[in-house]
Amino acid sequence: MDKFDVTIIGSGPGGYVAAIRCAQLGFKTALIERYQTLGGTCLNVGCIPSKAMLDSSEHYHNATHTFATHGIEVKEVKANLAQMIKRKSEVVKQTCDGINFLMKKNKVTVFHGHGSFTSKNTVSIKGEKGETMIESGKIIIATGSKPFSLPGIEIDKKRIITSTEALELKEIPKHLILVGGGVIGLELGSVYARLGSKVSVVEYADGIIPTMDKSLGKELQKSLSKLGIEFYLNHKVTGAKSTAKEVTVTAENKEGKAVEFKGDYCLVALGRKPYTDNLGLDKAGVKVDAKGKVEVDDHLQTNVAGIYAIGDVVRGAMLAHKAEEEGTFVAEVIAGQKPHINYNLIPGVVYTWPEVAAVGYTEEQLKEKGKKYKVGNFPFKASGRARASMDTDGFVKVLADADTDEILGVHMIGPRTADMIAEAVIAMEFRASAEDITRASHAHPTFTESFKEACLDATGKRAIHI
Ligand code: FAD
Ligand code: NAD
Repeated sequence: MDKFDVTIIGSGPGGYVAAIRCAQLGFKTALIERYQTLGGTCLNVGCIPSKAMLDSSEHYHNATHTFATHGIEVKEVKANLAQMIKRKSEVVKQTCDGINFLMKKNKVTVFHGHGSFTSKNTVSIKGEKGETMIESGKIIIATGSKPFSLPGIEIDKKRIITSTEALELKEIPKHLILVGGGVIGLELGSVYARLGSKVSVVEYADGIIPTMDKSLGKELQKSLSKLGIEFYLNHKVTGAKSTAKEVTVTAENKEGKAVEFKGDYCLVALGRKPYTDNLGLDKAGVKVDAKGKVEVDDHLQTNVAGIYAIGDVVRGAMLAHKAEEEGTFVAEVIAGQKPHINYNLIPGVVYTWPEVAAVGYTEEQLKEKGKKYKVGNFPFKASGRARASMDTDGFVKVLADADTDEILGVHMIGPRTADMIAEAVIAMEFRASAEDITRASHAHPTFTESFKEACLDATGKRAIHI
C-alpha cells in the first residue's frame, strides 16, 4: 500500500490549492478526484464557465444595444449559442489542463477515482482501473457541494435544470424561470436575458441577493429590470413540473395564494448542499452537522485528529476564494505554522452587469449590533470614467465607525467593482480609516476614484464630484 504524508479528497479550489501548498511545504502529497478532470465545481461547472458565458453574452448585448451610440455600425448581429458554449468549454479545458501541469510541477500524485475512508488513515480509491488503497498520515476532506433542491421539484436535467445544464443548453430559452434570486440565478439569468430570453425571477425574500446589503439588491433589480428581467419577490416556490416542451412552477405569494408560472426552462438555484456521498465518514468516525456539513474546529480539524475539512463541505460562504484560503491554511496548520483567516473580510461578488461586490459588515448587520456608524456614498453617474464607458448605473457605499473612522463595510455596485473590491479588502485587512483612503492618490480617470470619493463623503461630506 502506497503511503503519503497528506492525502486530499477532492480537487476543487480548496483541494488543489491545499495539495500545492502541502507539496511546497515538503509533504509527500496525494490528490484524489472522482472525475477525469481536476478543478472541481469552480473550474468545470462553476466560476470559470459561468464567467466565460457572461463575457460572451455581454459582448453580444453591447453589439446589439450600445455599439450604435458609440458610433459603431454593425449589421445582422446573431447570437451563436453553440459557438459560445464551445468557446466556454475550451476555456474550461485550458484551465483544467493548467491544474494538471501544476500537480506535475509540484510532484503531487493524482488518483482518479472515488475516494472513501476505510479507517481514519486509509482511503480506498475506486476508479476505471479497479480499486487502489492508500495510507496517509493526514487526510483533508475537500469534496465540495452539489445543487440543492426542494422535495416538490425533481431536476430532470432537460427542462428543470441546475447551473450545470444551464451552461450546456442547445437552444436559447424562450422563457426561463429562475427559482431563487441569488447569485447563480442572477448570473445565468443575465446570460440568457442578454441573448434574448424572457427571464422571470421567483424569489422567496423581499429582495434579490438577500444576504447582501439591502441597497445592493434594490439597485441591481433596477438595472436588471432595464434588461427586461421580471421579478416576483415574496414568492415561495413550492414545486415544478415539466412536460416535453414546457415547465410549470408553482409558488405561494405573500398572501398565501397559489401562483403559477409557465415557461420552457426552469433553472433551480436555491443554494448548494455539502457533498459527502459514499465518503465512508462513518468508517473514520467523522461527524457532520444537521445540514450535512463536516464539523470542524478553528484549525479546520474534524472531531478525528489528523482529519481536516475545507471549502464548501464545511461551514461558511460557499466561495472558491474562501476554499482556497482554507486550502493554504490547513496545509500550514499541518506544517505546524500559525496561519490566520479573517472570515469577515472574504469578499462576495456577483458577476452581473453592473457587477456587485462587497466586503465586511452590511448596514443591516451594523444596526443589529447597535454599532454607531457613518455612511459615505458616491454614484457612478458622477464618475468621468463611467460616463466615458456608458456604465453609470450603481454606486459605492462605505460604512465607517462613527468614532474611530475605521472602515467596517464596503458595498459596491457598478462597472468593474469585482476588481475594485480588492482595494477595500486590503484597506480593511490593515484596519484603514476612511480618511486613509482619501489621502491616497487614485489614478484619473478610473472607476477606483469612486471608492476614494465615497470615503471622502464618509469623512465629513468632503466628496469633490457630488
Ligand atoms: P468543489 O469545487 O465542489 O470540488 C470538490 C471536488 O471533490 C469535485 O471535483 C468532486 O468531484 C470531488 N469529490 C467529491 N467527493 C469525492 C470523492 N469521494 N472522491 C473523489 N473526489 C470527490 N465561487 C466564487 O468564488 N466565484 C464565482 O464566480 C463562483 N461562481 C460559481 C458559479 C456556479 C454556476 C457555481 C455552481 C458555483 C460558483 N462558485 C463561485 C462557487 C464555487 O464553485 C465553490 O465555492 C468552489 O468550487 C468550492 O470549492 P471546493 O474545493 O470546496 O469544492
Ligand atoms: P443562493 O443562496 O445565492 O440563492 C438562493 C436564493 O433562493 C436565495 O435568494 C433564497 O432566498 C431563495 N430561495 C430559497 N428558498 C426559496 C423558495 N422556496 N422559493 C423561492 N426562493 C427561494 O444560492 P445559489 O444562487 O444557488 O448559489 C449557490 C452558491 O454558489 C452560493 O452559496 C454562492 O456563494 C455560490 N456562487 C457564487 C458565485 C459568485 O461568487 N459569483 C456565483 C455562483 C454561485
